[in-house]
Amino acid sequence: MTGLDSPMAAVEDPRSHAVVIGAGLGGLTTAARLAAKGYRVTVLEALDDIGGRAYVYRRDGFTFDAGPTIITAPYIFEELWQACGGQLADDVELRPCDPFYKIRFDDGSVFEYSGDPERMRAQVRAFSEADLDGYDRFMRASGEIFRVAFQELGDKPFHSIGFTLKTMADMVRLGGYRTVYDKVCEYFTDPRLRVVFSFHPLLIGGNPFTTTAYYCLIAHLESKYGVHYAVGGTGALVRGVAKLIERRGGTIRCGAPVRSILVERGRAKGVELQTGERLAADVVVSNVDPATTYGKFLAHHPRKRWTDQKIARGRYSMSLFVWYFGVNRRFEDVGHHTMLLGPRYKGLLDDIFRNYRQPEDFSLYLHRPTAVDPSLAPEGCDAFYVLSPVPNLASGVDWERFADSYEARLRERLEETALPGLSAAIVTSFRLTPLDFRDRLQSHLGAAFALEPKLLQSAWFRPHNRSEEVEGLYLAGAGTHPGAGLPGVVSSAKIVADLVPAPAIR
Ligand SMILES: Cc1cc2nc3c(=O)[nH]c(=O)nc-3n(C[C@H](O)[C@H](O)[C@H](O)COP(=O)(O)OP(=O)(O)OC[C@H]3O[C@@H](n4cnc5c(N)ncnc54)[C@H](O)[C@@H]3O)c2cc1C
Repeated sequence: MTGLDSPMAAVEDPRSHAVVIGAGLGGLTTAARLAAKGYRVTVLEALDDIGGRAYVYRRDGFTFDAGPTIITAPYIFEELWQACGGQLADDVELRPCDPFYKIRFDDGSVFEYSGDPERMRAQVRAFSEADLDGYDRFMRASGEIFRVAFQELGDKPFHSIGFTLKTMADMVRLGGYRTVYDKVCEYFTDPRLRVVFSFHPLLIGGNPFTTTAYYCLIAHLESKYGVHYAVGGTGALVRGVAKLIERRGGTIRCGAPVRSILVERGRAKGVELQTGERLAADVVVSNVDPATTYGKFLAHHPRKRWTDQKIARGRYSMSLFVWYFGVNRRFEDVGHHTMLLGPRYKGLLDDIFRNYRQPEDFSLYLHRPTAVDPSLAPEGCDAFYVLSPVPNLASGVDWERFADSYEARLRERLEETALPGLSAAIVTSFRLTPLDFRDRLQSHLGAAFALEPKLLQSAWFRPHNRSEEVEGLYLAGAGTHPGAGLPGVVSSAKIVADLVPAPAIR
């Protein structure tokens, strides 16, 4: 007897029970794999709907994906569906983007980034002929890092320091101890090309000036497997994963915030919801930010590694200000994915990541899904979001007071650059600030991507997928290994499902 309330379902269903806290893509894909492994699965989500960072807002006839829009490594999803006994195409249609994105510099020049090597070479040549050879060499280096860091190690647990040390020789050979920006400078002389080939870590919360050069692998990943979008929005992918769970008899409960993880004699025995309801479990998986998992769900449990002091000492990723808006016209010359860069690169990132100072200038990502999928807005209309990286809440910025003026500045900037006439066309709008990442998604310091992916916060140094603190507790999602971004969180689910023992036969 565990002393926990035993839900009726446990009486009727003899399978071992896995409780997953959080219905982000990390939690949902873990739940799908555990259900396929034979567990009875219950997913508990605090919000009123699933998805987490990939939540879907529906307003005034517009559909807004809250977060991820760029889907790379589609084979990871195909493999997930196969592991669950299906085919991705049965539930979700992924279509390639072409180009991947346009990068517009402050001087008005535009780099069109695509997966076609010849078009890419032409773009590089147009910026700096002298860098063509460097481009070819960079792509080869990116491919080599990809094979080691992503294909061989990306879905392996880093639980032992011995295993970590074994990977050191590769790390030294591939320059993983250097930063992305340093590595890129080895191949490119043009300052704009240095931005084009180093900005990728920002997509997963990393600062190119501190993130390990391993993240140079993204260039190869994108060129080999493409950049995709889900028809109907990323929400269609989220709903597809939910179907995988439900087809195996799993349950997803929304509006069910967890208060604590119940531990008996060092072993996770279940969870307690904020309502006081208790659920017994054979296995508990937390998809919630590890700082919250350890600092709140296990606040009273003695911790060896992830103490409150260690959580406080961590370096957390940037946050985001995301402004979603629908307009009553179409901006046909704006592509699906546009990076609108400001005048500064290193200075801007120093302010955001190092100085925690809210910069005066900004670099933006503008998302226009209706460029490829008009079903996301009423006829003749466009849905957008604009995302601005900002310091996390260590900055002390009072977003309650600052958000209105910041939104107005973003609107002005968009009017001056990509969207002239924007103000007059807006028919619906809302936003997320760092406070939403902290209070809505329970992310420490309102970080949008959990712990920053620096070398000493990666792999073994990151919170492990099998908890170091409590037996029977596992971690999936952006804050654990391998890290943020859809390929990262879906890989963490695979790692967890491999680590969790086979369900008991009762
Ligand atoms: C604006 C934005 C754009 C992005 N764009 C991209 C992109 O284009 N491509 C890409 O690959 N990645 C992108 N990312 C990163 C990617 O979205 C995330 O790394 C990933 O979705 C995180 O998934 P997760 O499962 O780890 O966490 P989450 O999605 O945050 O899931 C955690 C879940 O736990 C729930 N939860 C929290 N506390 C509790 C509690 N007490 N009880 C129960 N549930 C709880 C939360 O509500 C949430 O649903 C983007 C992120 C953001 C924010």
